[in-house]
Amino acid sequence: RAKVYRGVHDIDLEEYYTSGHRTCQGCESALVMRSFAKASGPNTVVTGATGCMYVANTSYMSTPWAVPWMHTQLGAGGSSAVGMAAGLRALKNKGKLKKDIPHVIAFCGDLGGGDMGLGAISGALQTDYDLLIIIYDNESAANTDIQATGLTTWGAQTTFTPTGSVHRIMQKRWKKNVIGMMAAGHPNVRYLATACATYPAGDYLNKVRKALAAGGPTLIHTIDPCTKGWDYHPRYTGLIGELAVKTGIFPDYEIINGKVYYTYDARKKRVPVREYLEKQGRFSHFTEEDYEYVQSMVDEMWEDWEIPGVVPFRGD
Ligand code: SF4
Ligand code: MG
Repeated sequence: RAKVYRGVHDIDLEEYYTSGHRTCQGCESALVMRSFAKASGPNTVVTGATGCMYVANTSYMSTPWAVPWMHTQLGAGGSSAVGMAAGLRALKNKGKLKKDIPHVIAFCGDLGGGDMGLGAISGALQTDYDLLIIIYDNESAANTDIQATGLTTWGAQTTFTPTGSVHRIMQKRWKKNVIGMMAAGHPNVRYLATACATYPAGDYLNKVRKALAAGGPTLIHTIDPCTKGWDYHPRYTGLIGELAVKTGIFPDYEIINGKVYYTYDARKKRVPVREYLEKQGRFSHFTEEDYEYVQSMVDEMWEDWEIPGVVPFRGD
């Protein structure tokens, strides 16, 4: 059974993601790394796909990782986790690993996990290995200069989707619904969740603990405000993370043994989504009509979907 953090004072002081990284000031993805390492503890091995959390954490002769860490290819988060877990199980079975099998954690970004690596994650979720995959989602390919991905919010400016005088909106698709899709397709998986590291004890760290305790392959998808790509002052990372959840634009929930539990139930209360959007330069071209359109999409997600915020089938 997972140890539960009841507040920030419960959180372990030991760090396994320490100094030595070069992420931007205010980078929430760095907090996602630091927090999962704390929640998992020293008996952990990590594999990380190409992305900001690879590049910024492996400057020459310098790294923040105090647990074993391995880089893997952009789309290989899921498959490298399976390889690690299989190797560790074999060592244990042969008596060559004396201590407990370490927690196996793979991380990948929204491009690496939500787009390119989706097949490898699906494959991992069909195994019986104990492993956790974390998709850290800053809604862009940020280490190559902010290209749009399948998880970028409608209307956001990126280097692939710049606003212009002919087309104001270039990113016209709704954000890909990764956890809903993976839950529907992998009904044996015991634990899947979305999360926001802005809420360390109340949300993300406990979800990491639950995922690691659930047994079998598990998946968490975090929303990570990114100062560079979302264009805001670093001091607002926490506020923007909070608003991502409280406006309901990023549904915050767990799926435990097939049942949905809302961490923040946006059916009951939602902050207007404009408060989230207008704090970010990537939406600075929005008109009244655009704010209203995104609000209507958020409202539809919570009021009309088959499972609000999770499964978008509308019945009739
Ligand atoms: Fe973090 Fe964004 Fe900077 Fe990458 S570009 S290090 S995700 S704040
Ligand atoms: Mg990204």
